[in-house]
This record gives sequence, structure tokens and C-alpha cells, in this order.
Amino acid sequence: MATIFSKIAAGEIPSYKIAENDKFYAFLDINPLVKGHTLVIPRREVDYIFDMEDEELADMHLFAKSVAKAIEKAIPCKRVGVAVMGLEVPHAHIHLIPINKESDMII
Ligand code: 5GP
Repeated sequence: MATIFSKIAAGEIPSYKIAENDKFYAFLDINPLVKGHTLVIPRREVDYIFDMEDEELADMHLFAKSVAKAIEKAIPCKRVGVAVMGLEVPHAHIHLIPINKESDMII
């Protein structure tokens, strides 16, 4: 059964797209911690980020880096924080969270 995130990447469920390529998709979190809170996912269904193959995981981080650079330009912030949780949605994802102070990242 397709996960909600693979349906989002396939355009079957609407999302606010930030960036995409053939392997990965970035979109705004529906329940953002701060403005610009973005999720990066592989199009391929894989439940747990650290079960991904090394090359795919490295590629996802390079994609996330380019997304973070775009977020930095669009939203004034000190840093783009990175978080990996994955308790709610069983589809590997990275949270990119623009932050200005430490408390922005308390999640
Ligand atoms: P986690 O699995 O890392 O604990 O959290 C999943 C994240 O996905 C949450 O921050 C939640 O707000 C977000 N999320 C869950 N369902 C949707 C959805 O349908 N659309 C979007 N844009 N975000 C979602």
C-alpha cells in the first residue's frame, strides 16, 4: 500500500512543492513548526531513513543541501536545522527547519 508521502510525490495528494528531481521531492510540512518547515523524501518507498542504501542516502542529503540553500534565501534565518524523526509517517524523510534561536528546534 502506497504511503501518504509517495502519493504526495506522485501528485496524487496535493502539497506545496519546494523542489524535486527524479529521485527526491521536497514540500512544506502541513503542520509546520516554523514558517518554511520543509520535508525531503525519496520518491521510492522506504520506511526508515537508515535502511536506505548508502548512495541513495548520500544523494538525498545532497538534494536536501540544495533545498536548504533555497530556504536560506527565501526565509531570513540563522540556520536551516535538520531533524530525522519518522514516528508518524512510515516513509523516510528529513525535516528542514529554518531556525533563528535554539528554542525553534525543540520538537
Ligand atoms: P514524523 O514522521 O517525522 O514524526 O512526522 C511527519 C511529519 O509529516 C509531521 O511534521 C507532519 O506534520 C507531516 N505530515 C504528515 N502528513 C502530511 C501531509 O499529508 N502533508 C504534508 N505536507 N505534511 C504531512
